[in-house]
Amino acid sequence: MAILTYHHIGPCPPGQEDHKGLWVEEGLFAAQLRALKSWGYTCMTLHDVAASFSGRWRLPRKWVCITFDDGWRDNYERALPQLARHGMFATFFMVTSRIRANHPTGNWDDYLSLPELHEMANAGMEIGSHTHTHPHLTRLDESALKSEIVGSREILADVLGHPPEWFCYPYGNFSQRVAKVVREAGYGGATSTIRDNRVRPNQRYWMPRVMIMQDTQPRRLRYMLSGTYHLVHAWKNRSRWEGAK
Ligand SMILES: [Zn+2]
Repeated sequence: MAILTYHHIGPCPPGQEDHKGLWVEEGLFAAQLRALKSWGYTCMTLHDVAASFSGRWRLPRKWVCITFDDGWRDNYERALPQLARHGMFATFFMVTSRIRANHPTGNWDDYLSLPELHEMANAGMEIGSHTHTHPHLTRLDESALKSEIVGSREILADVLGHPPEWFCYPYGNFSQRVAKVVREAGYGGATSTIRDNRVRPNQRYWMPRVMIMQDTQPRRLRYMLSGTYHLVHAWKNRSRWEGAK
C-alpha cells in the first residue's frame, strides 16, 4: 500500500551527478518489480486507489501504484518494457511544454515524444499532468496558476483524446490555494512529495508517496512499504498535516 515515485530508469549519465539519486538502473528496477510480485503486492492504478476512497471498491491488502515524474524519454525506452514484462503499469506525469517535438526549439531530446506517449497510453499506462513549464506553483498568481494547471490539462486532452485524471505538483510545492485550482480544473486528485506509504481519502489532492532512489535495494523497498515506515513518517509529517487541513 504505497504510491512509488520514480524519475529516471537507467545509468546516471555524465554531467548528471548532482541528480544521481534519481537514476534507478534498469536491473534494479526489474529486481524491485520482481520483489513486489514475490511479496504479494498487486499493481494498481491511481484510478483504482481513488475509487476505493468512495467505498465502492476495495483495494487488495497489499497494493502499490507506480508513478514517474517529468516525462523522460528513458521512461519509454527502459521502464515501459520492464513494466510490460511484469504485467504492471504506471502513471506518467508530463510537463506539457517539454513533450518532444511539441517544443518550438526542438531542444527537448531527453523527453517523451507524442508517438511514445500514445504508445504508452495504448499500453494501459495512465498519463497525468505535471504542469506546462514545471514552476513552483505557490509563487504564481491566479492567472498563471490556471495556465499551468488548466492549460496543461487541455493540451493532454487534445493529445490523448480525453482529459488527464491526475495532477502532480512540481517540487511537491503546493498550498490549499493551489490544490483548489487543481480540483476546480477537474482533476480527480494529485500526488505530492509528502512521504508516507498510506493514503487517506482526505489526502486525495496531496497524496503522499515514497521516493525510489538509485540505492533502493529490495530490502530497503520492503522497509518503505512497512508499518514502521508509516509510523516514522506520520510522526515526521505531523506539522505538515496541520498546514494542509
Ligand atoms: Zn518534476
